[in-house]
Amino acid sequence: MTTESTAGLTTTAPSSGPAATPDRAHRAAKRYIYAWGGGAAEGDGTMKDLLGGKGAGLAEMTRAGLPTPPGFTITTEACNDYFAAGEQLPAGLWDDVLEAMGEIEQLTGKGLGNPKNPLLVSVRSGAKFSMPGMMDTVLNLGLNAATLHGLIALTNNKRFGWDAYRRFIQMFGRIVMDVKAERFEERLDAAKERHGPDAKDTDLTVEDLTVLVDEFKAIVQAVTGRDFPDDPYEQLDLAIKAVFASWFGQRARDYRKYNKIPDDLGTAVNVVTMVFGNMGDDSGTGVAFTRDPNTGEKTLYGEYLTNAQGEDVVAGIRTPAKISHLADDMPEAYAEFQRIATQLERHYRNVQDLEFTIERGRLYMLQTRDAKRTAAAAVKIAVDMVAEGTISEREAVARIEPAQVDQLLRDQFDPNARQDAQRVAKGLNASPGAAVGRAVFSADDAVAWVGRGEKVVLVRIETSPDDFHGMAVAQGILTARGGATSHAAVVARQIGKPCVAGCAELVVDYGSKSATSSESGLGFKEGDWISVDGSTGEVFLDQLPTVSARFEDQAELQTILGWADKIRRMGVWTNADKPEEAAQARSYGAEGIGLCRTEHMFREGERLEIVRGAILVANVATRAKARAAAGEELDPEDQAAIETFDAAMAKLEVLQQGDFEGIFKAMDGLPVVIRLIDPPLHEFLPNLEDQLVKVTREDALAEAAGGRKRDGKHGKKGAKHGKKARGASEADRELLRTIKSMHEQNPMLGLRGVRLGLMIPDFVKVQTRAILNAEIAVAKAGGHPIAKIMIPLVGHVNELSATKAILEAEAKTVEAAALESAPGIKVEYKFGTMIEVPRGALTAHEIARDASFFSFGTNDLTQMTFGFSRDDAEGGFLLKYVEDKILPFNPFQTLDDAVAGLMQIAVRNGRATRPDLEVGICGEHGGDPESIAKCERIGLDYVSCSPFRVPVARLAAAQAVLAGAAGRDR
Ligand code: ADP
Ligand code: MG
Ligand code: MG
Repeated sequence: MTTESTAGLTTTAPSSGPAATPDRAHRAAKRYIYAWGGGAAEGDGTMKDLLGGKGAGLAEMTRAGLPTPPGFTITTEACNDYFAAGEQLPAGLWDDVLEAMGEIEQLTGKGLGNPKNPLLVSVRSGAKFSMPGMMDTVLNLGLNAATLHGLIALTNNKRFGWDAYRRFIQMFGRIVMDVKAERFEERLDAAKERHGPDAKDTDLTVEDLTVLVDEFKAIVQAVTGRDFPDDPYEQLDLAIKAVFASWFGQRARDYRKYNKIPDDLGTAVNVVTMVFGNMGDDSGTGVAFTRDPNTGEKTLYGEYLTNAQGEDVVAGIRTPAKISHLADDMPEAYAEFQRIATQLERHYRNVQDLEFTIERGRLYMLQTRDAKRTAAAAVKIAVDMVAEGTISEREAVARIEPAQVDQLLRDQFDPNARQDAQRVAKGLNASPGAAVGRAVFSADDAVAWVGRGEKVVLVRIETSPDDFHGMAVAQGILTARGGATSHAAVVARQIGKPCVAGCAELVVDYGSKSATSSESGLGFKEGDWISVDGSTGEVFLDQLPTVSARFEDQAELQTILGWADKIRRMGVWTNADKPEEAAQARSYGAEGIGLCRTEHMFREGERLEIVRGAILVANVATRAKARAAAGEELDPEDQAAIETFDAAMAKLEVLQQGDFEGIFKAMDGLPVVIRLIDPPLHEFLPNLEDQLVKVTREDALAEAAGGRKRDGKHGKKGAKHGKKARGASEADRELLRTIKSMHEQNPMLGLRGVRLGLMIPDFVKVQTRAILNAEIAVAKAGGHPIAKIMIPLVGHVNELSATKAILEAEAKTVEAAALESAPGIKVEYKFGTMIEVPRGALTAHEIARDASFFSFGTNDLTQMTFGFSRDDAEGGFLLKYVEDKILPFNPFQTLDDAVAGLMQIAVRNGRATRPDLEVGICGEHGGDPESIAKCERIGLDYVSCSPFRVPVARLAAAQAVLAGAAGRDR
């Protein structure tokens, strides 16, 4: 045992960065190699960019005195240079590799290709971020007929030698020479079957293995047309190049795209002396987390297999045992592993994901990295580590991913519905959450179904990196095989999808695209709805209803967000149109309403009819009022129009006042920004085509029935008698005329927003009165309403000034009336504007004269800056643009830099005019973490987002401050 090896582990960050590492002699133009072994390492844990995560971890563990097998890393830079040179190893690199191999040979006393004392190595890919899709590791490289016999003679273990050789040809053949895995597995299964139906690979005899080796070599020869390479140096050369090549493999590209990892990071290659977990029952291999990655509980969590090599645990060849059993099987090794785990966690100040191998009782560490974890675990771990004094509150906040907060607020299955549901099967609860979708049985099918607008659950026997694209689009993932550390489980946790893994009772048949439980007898086929509970491991038939995750119940999340609140500078407000939404957002921590849209106040229930009535006469009435104001005499028709219009408006005013009172009560004491009417009026009228069809059809029916000629007036009279076809009604004709007269080629760029208020001032006057009277009513009742009236779509300061003049006059009247009924009452309000037209942003210095606040409407600002409409763009070319990298990302999701630039100008110039100008954002970007970071840099006062994004925004706003501080420290 190597108990002494864990002494001297420092907990401070390593001081010896790359600069402190003496340059090693090299023939290549650059230094491409960093070696470790014999207790010393040239690299260290800070060098993930250059050495990849695995290489940096091995170097760091070696420096810390932990038992690692010697090896070296070829840098990510070598990978990039390899591609730059047209897939050629940089000149001199191979010589440097040979020299590094020579050093390992010296350290181990073994030789690559030496038949007397053969050195075997593993060749492992390792990018900066651990990435499914990268090349799988090749173990036992260096074996051939001659070295095999050396290995057997040295270990005196024939079976071990042949098993290692069989594995090597299988792995190298599959990974480096691209032979399909099934070709080997068929032979392997056939060999196992000869020992009975439940035989394992450990049941294979030396004879079986020698036969398999011959068969495997023949398969390679048949598929590739060449002999399996016997020369260990050729093996090494091919393996290194295969690692590089895998960087641009489809799977790796897909993964990077999904996770927004740049293509130019490159992968490192690690060449590591083999240690053998398959040397008998005093040997084994395993993976473990220093805390439970599902729950965050502080306990070693993992699996291991005796007499096995690394890949066996992950591949699910045999069912691994829980790591705690190692305490019984190999108590000393377990004790040492526990010690190392604790020390590594303390050293990295984070939960670690460890790989180890025990060779004849001796423990070796093969990998350490910060563990992937579920959202629930991430939050618990962060809070626990602050309590333990391991990390600061700021670090805890920095460590939670905004997406994880989002995930914690995701729905769960309704507990009542669950009781009555038909449970098909139960597997491992590999990644929490509730997923409902139609069953599909391949990744390609998943993509196809989702492309048709369906929701799917991907069902596989087990997943491999080839399934990633399907997992990415699925609601959830269900596998029949594989443990808590299987591919499906790891990836699902990482991308935040519910997953049930290792559902052994489920018999999945790809042929018929169906699955049946051997225990419950229930099953489902492609297209059937299933519900998968990743928190309990259960699989149900049909669509179970979900209930939302309760924020109130998540004390740890609230603790983290409380810390975030102390760090962040920007306020977090919400976009809410109704009291219920406002209350919801407030419970999530919203500090105001940044956008209260009033459109629905014109649309709902009885209101739409009132509004339509008003719109029909709006233009006539407005012109008539103007004439009356100018002292002209009005004819009765005009008079009637005004009366109809005003009556409708008065009704609306009462209804709207009620709405506003509700919102002010829900947001008592907090600011509420209310946007005056914004959309074009046609949105409140029936669609032109529909109305045209209606009128035409009714007239045609009347004509066909031999009724009246198309004559509206008579038709209307006829309407009083019976239900005979009688042509379209006069009301419908009138409506059609109005719709036609209001028809615009480009309504989004037409009569809307501030322009509408200027043309038909009564709309905004009524709203202003409703807002202020609501304020007064709520204040009288003892509340503390804070109203801010926002005028949308301003492009020229005069639009704002003119509108403001109208509204201020209205406010004065309301105030005067209020003072009469309640002397001493104060009506507080502010006028501001939405900046969502580029001209508005560019003339902010002028606009700020008349606006006490700005709110960036970044949806429109993005549309108008790019000059494309969101609906048309997202429904059409935009996704392709992003795919083809014409645009780096969807600018409607993440704030585009040019749009941010306009905001920057507006903020600077607006504040130059009015230093206390309050500035926020109310576009959807206000809930997007990356955009929130940009808002922090621009210096906004607050972000406003939909209620359920409020917790995410609180975290993201704090992280934006932390990132800014880190940037300044650099
Ligand atoms: P991954 O990136 O998939 O984790 P690794 O390079 O870590 O790939 O290796 C896959 C498996 O092989 C792991 O279980 C690892 O512990 C094992 N392994 C890698 N190198 C060696 C080695 N030199 N000796 C023994 N086992 C090894
Ligand atoms: Mg690994
Ligand atoms: Mg807008």
